[in-house]
Order: sequence, then structure tokens, then C-alpha cells
Amino acid sequence: MAKMKICGLQKTTLLDYPGKVAATVFLGGCNFRCPFCHNSDLLGGDAPELMTAEELLTFLRRRQGILEGVCITGGEPTLWPDDAAELMLRIKEMGYQIKLDTNGYRPQVLKELCGLGVVDYVAMDIKAGRRHYAEVCGAGRPDRAAAGAAHSADGSSGQLGFRLDSIEESAAWLMEGHVPYEFRTTTVKGIHTAEDFTDIAAWIGGCERYFIQGFVDSGHVLKSGFSAYKRAELDEFLDIVKKTIPGAEIRGVDY
Ligand code: SF4
Repeated sequence: MAKMKICGLQKTTLLDYPGKVAATVFLGGCNFRCPFCHNSDLLGGDAPELMTAEELLTFLRRRQGILEGVCITGGEPTLWPDDAAELMLRIKEMGYQIKLDTNGYRPQVLKELCGLGVVDYVAMDIKAGRRHYAEVCGAGRPDRAAAGAAHSADGSSGQLGFRLDSIEESAAWLMEGHVPYEFRTTTVKGIHTAEDFTDIAAWIGGCERYFIQGFVDSGHVLKSGFSAYKRAELDEFLDIVKKTIPGAEIRGVDY
């Protein structure tokens, strides 16, 4: 994929941007292939474009005064540093608050986008405990020393290794408090166990906000066969992380 594509738009959401009425913009392309991804049709270079940036800006201009925020999600928005920066600058000029969703694999781009002053809130995935992080991202074996991306945006596989230290760098930078942020883990039966949450508690203990989310089978999941933990089971994971993140919460799970 040579250019950023807007592949989806949720015109109004009360859920995606904490405390704000927002729209959510889905950018195509991702450098991960999380098997439980529920946006699997957005990941590759062949994801169909829904609208141009100009059409999106026209829509947002019409919604000024109605919407408060815009969530930029994916796919993985940091794959498109220049195009995403320009889009976010123009959205910001309209007075919107901007939330950026990221998998944290491109810390330099995350820092640059935040440095432009266009990001008001970052939501970064903590996919799993570090022991099997690469596998959970669909990127093979963890390798701190290897160079290169896990997957290119066009979906080719990661022959060059997976950089866990990139994820760690993004998390550590957010925890320095440059911009309001949250971490969140989508929890999937068959992938996550208590061991993941023991490591997450050790890793990001003391962070500002952390949410455990339940897996939802959207019908567009990359690999079928996963299921969700029940609320009572998630409560056990929550107890583990609360030891170092007292404000941790379960979000959006009432079953
Ligand atoms: S990071 Fe994983 S869950 Fe998020 S869009 Fe990419 S493949 Fe899907």
C-alpha cells in the first residue's frame, strides 16, 4: 500500500473516545496480524477506500458543534506518518479533540505525532505479556535484537524479526506523561492466561489508565475459533493488575 487510505468511518460514537461524542476514522493497513483482530478486512493493501481525506474533512466540517472528538484508528495509523499528521492537523484546525489508537510498534512516529500537538489522547494496546507478545501479534517469535517491521503495510510477513523493545519504548514514553493516555488489553480465551496479567502488572505498573477489554467476535475476525472470557474470569485478571495499577478497570463487559 503506497498511500494512506480511509477505509471506514463511524459517524458517531459515545464509546471510542472517553467522555466525548466522537467520530471514528479507520485507516487501512497494519503491521501486525493479531489472530483475534476484528478489523481483518482493513489490514492489507487491498482494503477498499471508503472516502478521500477531503471528503472526510467535509463531513467533519458539517459536524462541528455536534461532535467533540475524532478517533484515528486502524489498522495502524502510525504507518502513515506524513499523511496522518496532515490529516490530524486539519482536523485539529476545526477545533476537534483527537484520540490516536496505536499498537505502539513505531515509537518514533508516536512521539512525532504527539510532538506536533495534534494528539489529545493516546490509546495503546498492550497485546499480552512479553513472553509471547510476538505470537499474539501474529509476528512470530520475540526478538529484541532483530531489525525491521513485523509486517509491512501490504501484509507481507515479517521475515526480519519482531522488536519487542519498540513496544516497550512506546509504553515507557507514554508513562513519562507527555500526553494523556491509556493502555488496554483485549482478552481472548485461548490466548491470554493469568500469567499475561502478572507480567503486564510488572511491566506497566503505576500507569495512568489501564483497561481490560473482552474479546468480541465481530464476524470479521482474522482467525476463527476464539471465545471470550466471562466477567467473573476477567475479575480474576483484574485482581492481579490492581496490585500495581490500582485504578485498572474492566471495560465494556457485562456478561
Ligand atoms: S494491531 Fe492487531 S488488532 Fe489492531 S488492527 Fe492490527 S492486526 Fe488488528
